[in-house]
Amino acid sequence: MAEQSAELSPLLKQATPVLAARGEGVYIYDEDDRRYLDFTAGIGVTSTGHCHPRVVEAAQRQVATLIHGQYTTVMHRPLLALTERLGGVLPRGVDRLFFVNSGSEAVEAALRLARQATGRQNAIVFQGSFHGRTMAAASLTTSGVKIRAGIGPLMPGVVVSPFPYAYRLGMSEDAAVEYALRELDYQFATVTSPQDTAAVFIEPVLGEGGYVPVPPAFLRGLRERADRHGFLLVADEVQTGFGRTGRFWGHDHAGITPDIVITAKGLASGFPLSAIAAPSALMEKAWPGSQGGTYGGNAVSCAAALATLDVIEEEGLVDNARVMGERLLAGLRGVAAEHSGIGDVRGLGLMVGNEFTTADGRPDTDTAARAHRIAADKGLLLLTCGPHGNVVRMIPPLIVTADQVDSAVAVWSEAVKEATAG
Ligand code: PMP
Repeated sequence: MAEQSAELSPLLKQATPVLAARGEGVYIYDEDDRRYLDFTAGIGVTSTGHCHPRVVEAAQRQVATLIHGQYTTVMHRPLLALTERLGGVLPRGVDRLFFVNSGSEAVEAALRLARQATGRQNAIVFQGSFHGRTMAAASLTTSGVKIRAGIGPLMPGVVVSPFPYAYRLGMSEDAAVEYALRELDYQFATVTSPQDTAAVFIEPVLGEGGYVPVPPAFLRGLRERADRHGFLLVADEVQTGFGRTGRFWGHDHAGITPDIVITAKGLASGFPLSAIAAPSALMEKAWPGSQGGTYGGNAVSCAAALATLDVIEEEGLVDNARVMGERLLAGLRGVAAEHSGIGDVRGLGLMVGNEFTTADGRPDTDTAARAHRIAADKGLLLLTCGPHGNVVRMIPPLIVTADQVDSAVAVWSEAVKEATAG
């Protein structure tokens, strides 16, 4: 056989050249043992911080006990225990669930369930939405054309309605909500009859689309329309769940209950696991055999998720996310006030975005990219987002401390100063 060594696909382009050797709490260490403050948490995945001892211990114990039990053949205790445990944190009545492996798979599962349960086909999403990269999930994704380009034809039946993005629209929040709800009603009058609409998918904080919290009045408007027209309200809590926004679920801020809740990322502190939950009357309408997969509810992931829930509860991480989120937002607004390049700083809990705009209000991708890179050089790992990549987002582990928030703000201030100089 010919000698060959493989190389990474250029598709796996890295935003920073950091080669992570290990992680501990809010820090990543590279192979030279240089320490980075990780304000990405792997897009919120390492909710309890890198390698939380409780999570490590639970996973290690489970690996040595039972790695995988195929739920179509045998049931196992971690899966049962996690199901019961999630019942305690899910919205009242949303108490039937099953597990898959990634956010995208859970989105696909929610769409299948919505179509089967309602007998209707169409789905509504909002401009800037991100629901994943598998074919149906990509069809529901509008956070940037790069996700959709070159892979069409996409799934038909997806209607895209404006998101109440007050800053981009140049409106007050109230006006943006009124506008977006009016446009949604217009879609119902012109594009998809409500009677053909199976579901509306929404992220409680627009994630990849730019870190824009959904105004509570908008979510309430969606709930009211879903009830009136008989379609389902699906909350994609992949980034916003498990305390990230300072409440357990992002939709808690609006005081509504969705019909389907999708969770992933923070659920198992980095182990691949996702879940969808719905009321039993709805879940029973799923066609047998149409959902699930080989690895869904893997025993090690379930054990890690149970430990994650323990840590969130015992360490008061939902409250910590709220308090630290407010501190971070205030610090970042202070930085923006000193530099003209940042047009908007917004967020909910530990999900905060800094939007770079030019003097005449256009997206400033270059300065955002520069600030992002300089921050990494100075030991602060961040992510960009938004269709133009001009939003620098901060999403640290939920265990972040006041000192770590203050250090991040200080480094960010230096990075912005250098990025906007001259
Ligand atoms: N939904 C949302 C809101 C997300 O942020 C993401 C991932 N960024 C997904 C779905 C897709 O998740 P995954 O990458 O695990 O497929």
